[in-house]
Amino acid sequence: MTQDTPRELRPDTLAVTAGVHRTEFDEMSEGLFLTQGYVYPTAAEAEAAFAGEIDRYQYSRYGNPTVTAFQDRLAAIEGAEACFATATGMAAVFVSLAAVLDQGDRLVAARALFGSSIQVFNEHFQRWGITVDYVDAHNNADWDRALATPAKAIYVESPTNPMQDVIDIPYVATLAKKAGAVLVVDNVFATPLGQKALELGADAVVYSATKHIDGQGRVLGGAILGSEDYVNGPVRTMVRQMGATISPFNAWVLLKGLETLGVRVRAQAATTLDLAHWLEAHPAVARARHPFLSSHPQHELAKKQMTLGGTIVTIDLALPEGVDPASDVAKRAAFTFLDALQLFVISNNLGDAKSIATHPATTTHRKLGAEGRAAVGMSDATVRLSIGLEDVEDLRADLAQALDAM
Ligand SMILES: *Cc1c(COP(=O)(O)O)cnc(C)c1O
Repeated sequence: MTQDTPRELRPDTLAVTAGVHRTEFDEMSEGLFLTQGYVYPTAAEAEAAFAGEIDRYQYSRYGNPTVTAFQDRLAAIEGAEACFATATGMAAVFVSLAAVLDQGDRLVAARALFGSSIQVFNEHFQRWGITVDYVDAHNNADWDRALATPAKAIYVESPTNPMQDVIDIPYVATLAKKAGAVLVVDNVFATPLGQKALELGADAVVYSATKHIDGQGRVLGGAILGSEDYVNGPVRTMVRQMGATISPFNAWVLLKGLETLGVRVRAQAATTLDLAHWLEAHPAVARARHPFLSSHPQHELAKKQMTLGGTIVTIDLALPEGVDPASDVAKRAAFTFLDALQLFVISNNLGDAKSIATHPATTTHRKLGAEGRAAVGMSDATVRLSIGLEDVEDLRADLAQALDAM
């Protein structure tokens, strides 16, 4: 199979067959082209390449065969016309919007976002004369109000990190079309297998490949997927010029990560849902959030637009009567729980084969401030659990003993 692998094949097949560009050596595993540049047989060919008369690799900031293989494979799995890989997930977030926003333009974004994305919007886009308006992402009336005024781009995560709000993507996509705005969806929590945001109406999807696509804590990477015109137009031009290019080595690790994405994510999602049900019923847990729990406020919507509920469960620890969840007492309770965990590691990553516990208020979502956190329903008693590939019973026992320690 080559880059011409038929798109009708199912994602698990495409994950191992798409994007294979075998060389004259007939290698089994995909080649790793750890090269900065390329050589030309003649000066005239170099001239023709720079003049754009022939299409060939010139320099790895512009393109690299290993990076192409990763892009082609991810595009095939996602069902996207085109994909462009970036050095990190944040480079993908930044470029997906910066490539289309001009001074004076308006960006409408969901309030509940990954911390660094909010910082890019507030500290950089606003400095460049771009207006950013935030909405309550799960509230369709709020979207109606926000998109009654023209906007150039819309940015959402669904489900959101870490509170797992689900955005009605087809609804927002319809409003986006009317407003003439590009709708970009950060699909990290849902994963390429759990939600097809482009089919739901999004114009572009972004990933931090650092998360499930690697899934083994090794490399950073990102990707932007969408139409040929958008991805191989403004997106590609911007990444090539500003240099947020992914390293071929990282692209190779991620390319191989895609081969096991399906088995990993489905196993992790099954364990996550099992533990989410168990956590929800535990007396030391005030609330568990997961899109596929029937207690989730947008459970019906989640079931409609997602085929997997994801690998994250977010819990609010139960506190003694009268204790403010946004307080030092709540934080100490959360720290006691995290420190008591033996199998779960404390880290800020997610989507890994290793189960991870995160205290968002003091790490990933620290910069939001207490007010910003309260606005999305997060407190000092909130803990994000990313579920890995360990045995579900061992994870349950670890959670049980740590909840007892509180
Ligand atoms: C991690 C993450 C990012 C940023 O990705 P990096 O690879 O760390 O740059 C963006 N969005 C979400 C939802 C994330 O979890």
